[in-house]
Amino acid sequence: MKTTAHDAPETLLADGKRVRCDGGGGALGHPVVYYDMGAADDVECQYCGRRYVVRGSARARFLGLA
Ligand SMILES: [Zn+2]
Repeated sequence: MKTTAHDAPETLLADGKRVRCDGGGGALGHPVVYYDMGAADDVECQYCGRRYVVRGSARARFLGLA
């Protein structure tokens, strides 16, 4: 998983519906949080705004992420 920091929130591929986010760690990060997407194929981190999309899902294809 990428950990590069950007000014704008990123969209990252996830290998499953349960994702872990720490915002990239270090000074740019936030406390580790876990999300479960449930019925959805994506989730947005409430701390840093990063969006996680299930790899191979229709949502990922729609976003051009494969
Ligand atoms: Zn986050």
